[in-house]
Amino acid sequence: MDLVQLQHKIRVVHDFPEPGISFKDITTLLCDGESFQYAVQQISEFGRPRDVDLVVGPEARGFVLGAPTAYALGVGFVPIRKPGKLPGETIRKDYQLEYGHDGLEMHADAIKPGQRVFIVDDLLATGGTIQSCIDLVLRAGGIVVGLGFLIELQYLEGRKHLAGYETFSLLQYA
Ligand code: IMP
Repeated sequence: MDLVQLQHKIRVVHDFPEPGISFKDITTLLCDGESFQYAVQQISEFGRPRDVDLVVGPEARGFVLGAPTAYALGVGFVPIRKPGKLPGETIRKDYQLEYGHDGLEMHADAIKPGQRVFIVDDLLATGGTIQSCIDLVLRAGGIVVGLGFLIELQYLEGRKHLAGYETFSLLQYA
């Protein structure tokens, strides 16, 4: 398996979910065992030297990649979810969308102060989602030691907002 073969496993769907958007569908990669394993191994190898205590991943595709990364590293996994889904006491981050706003929540007691956190998601676009995740981890007292993505849409320049964080993406679209 190499990166060219891996990139061919991603299905690009034009005009989804709206006209003008070229959606990167990772389900075609996930259903191929060798590709899924390779992707998780590569993301985990980025995290391994960073002395990670916890992996954090946002709903929903951040669970699919974050949980096996945590398993590979032998550490715990913390989910970040859409509002109203987590049963315990939560902390919340609201963010603006093009039309309206949305939010993300994390259990208030999920991260102990000083724990070293690796945040994993499927895709870095504008960076808004990952910035909200970083905000929640920092408010809980965690230290963000790395950000890992399967895909980076470089033309949306999300990385510009992530200066100071060690950021890894396995596949890039320029
Ligand atoms: P951002 O907040 O603009 O960086 O968008 C990243 C979030 O949107 C990630 O959690 C992705 O799951 C989702 N996303 C945005 N574009 C795509 C896409 O083309 N394929 C899959 N997910 C996407």
